[in-house]
Amino acid sequence: MPTTAVNTQKREYRGRFAPSPSGPLHFGSLIAAVGSFLDAKANQGKWLVRIEDIDTTRVVNGASDDILHTLEAYGLHWDESVIYQTQRHEQYQAIVDELISQNLVYTCHCTRKEIKAIGGIYQGHCRHKNHSLADSALRLTQQFATSNYDDLIQGEIHVDNQLAQEDYLIKRSDGLFAYQLVVVVDDIAQGISHVVRGADLLEPTARQLSLFKQLNQPAPQYAHLPLAVAKPGFKLSKQNYAPAISKKDPKPALFDALRFLGLQPEASILSLSIEQMLEWAIKTYRMELVPKSLEIQVSEDPNSAFCDFLTITK
Ligand SMILES: [Zn+2]
Repeated sequence: MPTTAVNTQKREYRGRFAPSPSGPLHFGSLIAAVGSFLDAKANQGKWLVRIEDIDTTRVVNGASDDILHTLEAYGLHWDESVIYQTQRHEQYQAIVDELISQNLVYTCHCTRKEIKAIGGIYQGHCRHKNHSLADSALRLTQQFATSNYDDLIQGEIHVDNQLAQEDYLIKRSDGLFAYQLVVVVDDIAQGISHVVRGADLLEPTARQLSLFKQLNQPAPQYAHLPLAVAKPGFKLSKQNYAPAISKKDPKPALFDALRFLGLQPEASILSLSIEQMLEWAIKTYRMELVPKSLEIQVSEDPNSAFCDFLTITK
């Protein structure tokens, strides 16, 4: 029999970009795309794309295709087939069933409003209520509460203990699988070794780490990039009308994204092709160059040019 190498130490680098198709890519999501791409390519790794369309109530028609066309326009070519969460319900249900068979799941009827009224953290109210499955949300009994982890960019992260211990939702009462379940199941399925994404997901990462432990699977390493904010505390997002990045003229936004990530491109690289700009960036990129801040203000007015970086706040 061939010997099986224990590959927990030396995993093949597999990174990913996982946008939600709730609208076109804006500068904030471009940072996550370029950051995860450069880190993968600088480490001779694979870069995968996953469309996180699990929450169908937020999906905008045509946005998935638009996002993929935008990535192509920016020279960000993925290495394996794109996966779509809406095509993976069977796999998610199989994991839910497995957790149910281990008596780790219970039904919950508490509303968001009720949980908010007790301080926002669920206290296990329904743990022994045995509500019927119909119209119930499903919660996982937390057995691997994780409140600390090391982030490759942001350093040591500590998450509120109560939050870490919360029995969290794995399936919503409307029947949709919860984001925190599917993101972990997908990262396992895609063999993801490194997750490079925005710092707004620092806190949920602790919960995702606990689910990797629950499912007895190796977790990726996490690196959280500073968030692009319009003003302190307000990330660029579809909700605050961050403009879509241009597909026709991608170089200026790519140039700004490289600057945002700590590279110092000369203006002359704008005369190169988009592929050559990325080639230069892959050669130059090092994670240590990325500012170790949680957010970077890119402009007071999210509709103006991106490149006037104003402040870096911790
Ligand atoms: Zn409940």
